[in-house]
Amino acid sequence: RKFVYDFSEGNKDLKDLLGGKGANLAEMTNLGLPVPPGFTITTEACKAYLDDGAAPEALRDEVSVHLEALERRMGKKLGQTDDPLLVSVRSGAKFSMPGMMDTVLNIGLSDESVQGLAAQSGDERFAWDSYRRLIQMFGDTVLGIKGELFAEALDEAKKSRGAATDVDLCAADLQELVEQFKGIVSKETGRDFPQEPREQMDLAIRAVFDSWNGDRARLYRRQERIPHDLGTAVNVCSMVFGNLGPDSGTGVAFTRDPASGQQGVYGDYLQNAQGEDVVAGIRNTVPLADLEGLDKASYDELMRTMETLETHYKDLCDIEFTIERGKLWMLQTRVGKRTAAAAFRIATQLVDQGLIDEAEALRRVTGSQLAQLMFPRFDGDATSDQLGWGIAASPGAAVGKAVFDSYTAIKWSRSGEKVILIRRETNPDDLDGMIAAEGILTSRGGKTSHAAVVARGMGKTCVCGAEELEVDTKRRRMTAPGGVVIEEGDTVSIDGSSGKVYLGEVPVVPSPVVEYFEGRMHAGADDADELVKAVHRIMAYADRVRRLRVRANADNAEDASRARRFGAQGIGLCRTEHMFLGERRELVERLILADTSEERETALRGLLPHQKDDFVELFESMDGLPVTVRLLDPPLHEFLPDITELSVRVALAESRKDHNENDLRLLQAVHRLHEQNPMLGLRGVRLGLVIPGLFTMQVRAIAEAAAERIEAKGDPRAEIMIPLVGTVQELEIVREEAEQVIADVEREHGLELKVALGTMIELPRAALTAGQIAECADFFSFGTNDLTQTVWGFSRDDVEASFFTAYLEKGIFGVSPFETIDKDGVGALVRSAAEAGRATRPDLKLGVCGEHGGDPESVHFFHEVGLDYVSCSPFRIPVARLEAGRAAA
Ligand code: PEP
Ligand code: MG
Repeated sequence: RKFVYDFSEGNKDLKDLLGGKGANLAEMTNLGLPVPPGFTITTEACKAYLDDGAAPEALRDEVSVHLEALERRMGKKLGQTDDPLLVSVRSGAKFSMPGMMDTVLNIGLSDESVQGLAAQSGDERFAWDSYRRLIQMFGDTVLGIKGELFAEALDEAKKSRGAATDVDLCAADLQELVEQFKGIVSKETGRDFPQEPREQMDLAIRAVFDSWNGDRARLYRRQERIPHDLGTAVNVCSMVFGNLGPDSGTGVAFTRDPASGQQGVYGDYLQNAQGEDVVAGIRNTVPLADLEGLDKASYDELMRTMETLETHYKDLCDIEFTIERGKLWMLQTRVGKRTAAAAFRIATQLVDQGLIDEAEALRRVTGSQLAQLMFPRFDGDATSDQLGWGIAASPGAAVGKAVFDSYTAIKWSRSGEKVILIRRETNPDDLDGMIAAEGILTSRGGKTSHAAVVARGMGKTCVCGAEELEVDTKRRRMTAPGGVVIEEGDTVSIDGSSGKVYLGEVPVVPSPVVEYFEGRMHAGADDADELVKAVHRIMAYADRVRRLRVRANADNAEDASRARRFGAQGIGLCRTEHMFLGERRELVERLILADTSEERETALRGLLPHQKDDFVELFESMDGLPVTVRLLDPPLHEFLPDITELSVRVALAESRKDHNENDLRLLQAVHRLHEQNPMLGLRGVRLGLVIPGLFTMQVRAIAEAAAERIEAKGDPRAEIMIPLVGTVQELEIVREEAEQVIADVEREHGLELKVALGTMIELPRAALTAGQIAECADFFSFGTNDLTQTVWGFSRDDVEASFFTAYLEKGIFGVSPFETIDKDGVGALVRSAAEAGRATRPDLKLGVCGEHGGDPESVHFFHEVGLDYVSCSPFRIPVARLEAGRAAA
């Protein structure tokens, strides 16, 4: 095996072996771009090192060979005392893991070679500063010394010299600092700072290998689902310096605007500086365009280079470069991150430029980017006082009155106030308050904090970790930088897409993308928003190529109509329980309380016309498209009063000797129906089998509604779905009864209805016996919510608030299995049930109607498994359409 590759030996497709950075450095080298010479140690070497606890024998020799070649090329040796070659040692894994692993610059400097560097560069200050940086970085990352020790010494030096920044320290100051830093190294490690350059390099390489298994890196990988066994590559690159005077500098650039996608000159430049200075914000950078005036030749070369990169990578690239005494050097490039809006615009621009085709354009955008674009936003033109800035944890724009505890959040929201719940951090006790609030703001915690995870799960706006805001929950106030105090009841606005927090009410504007889907904005209009035009085109590509159809979960005409505007091709799940609420609850109560079959039949007769009207409306709004109506599913106690409340009411009445016969009977019924595990109890098909007439009433309502629509010259496509089936016998009984009712209605109306009868597959047993069940079903719809609940044994109503945060933090999963389908477990059942079902009945129609139907990653899985459609909430339909297109592209 070969463990070391010269930059000229690799290419951009070797990311597995050379890591992202190494592969792209190689690609640039081979494009003839000015990359400082160097070599990459492969991920294979790292893996061998981590497996065996020692670097492979051959590695040392290979590094020697490559180092010698590098030295020959550069005409100087590593750490050579009169004119040292210096190198950087940088980590670079296949997937970018920002800030997770180590980098050491200026390797090769020692007490002697620092003099050589000073002489060669003619800049003593520069030489000592470089040496100071080496000891600091090496001490921290390689020797494991606390970074603060160096930072404190540096601060001390600045203070005693009256220097505002480190640029104000002179050569002598820095030389003294080097002595102090060396002292820290000796004291903390019991040995002197290594003077031997090769030893420095070898130790740094080992430290980079080790950093792959650092706590931070492991946690990051678990969360991002990056496998632990990839290892990192190590790039050894000859140093170039941007801090050698005014004709030097360093910068970052994008080949086009990562915010809007517009072509132009985007980036920042810092004269006479090194990369870390830009990050540290020591001095203000200037816009990249200013470089033209400072150094025209380098600027022109940079522009040419960026064009080369764009046409070569056929995408927006971001780059890091350094100019050393008027010579441009490329230090890094990669396909750059961009905002959601830019992703859509860039993809269509590149199609227009003929650089990519439509299928590739689809791969360049994601459903979650589209979802981001569908949130309302704050009016960009409105001026408001920004209070602070946190992590954009869950998108959206929320305005409300500041409250500092959940109790107040609930109380105020009950009285109709909009509130923003502000906490230092949240915990499961805050859940009710979070539900009541418009948005959540915390001053601590990152993207995986409780607040962030739960808010995202609820689709609620959240800004977390706004550390500059001081939250005092005891005194119910928050203090912003500059001393602005926000008391309970003051209005604040939070932007979950940018992380910004404002004082007062910022006006909210609807998303132009939603306006477009709603049909209120036309992509064809001359003045149409560029973003809307791009979204329109990409959606058209997606619709053209996708195989999966997309339906909606909707149970009223309003949702159905919106879903249709958003592109739904039918309803995949109409939950009829929502039709049993409100004023109809009384009829349901009567049904449950019925002692005799007459009482029961009367109650059912009362419900029938209401149900029928609901279905007529639904069939009308989805005319010509399939509508899957699910028969009643939830446990009946959900339709009865709360057991505690009712008990209290009855007890109070008793004490007043004021008997309410109905309440007493209700209470008995509530007790009778009470179950320890209602989700595993009397629900779904079991209701149909136990309560005579319930399902047949529903089937009649559906059939009569369909008949009425046909008589009105409509085109209803009714499908009846039985929930929570575990065995084919259950389905057989219900099916037979339903067919009877449908035949009756057909006869009564003198027409043919063609109603399909199918089942949900949402219990493990149903999935395992799908081959049998298919004999009795025209279609399957996977209920992945219940299937996830029953396969994992997780209560879908409780876990998100109880132990999921801990599971996410420990990396047991990176995302809730209720959000993204668990391919290995639940998904495996879906796959095998789909296969078994189709083996029995090749024309079996297959869909999914659990929440996963609108989740991007899950949609790809359902495409791959060969389902016919996914069904999701109306708002997620565009996302599902896009992802179905991406899956097929
Ligand atoms: C399911 O279980 O996935 C499903 C769609 O049904 P419900 O969510 O109504 O239980
Ligand atoms: Mg279900």
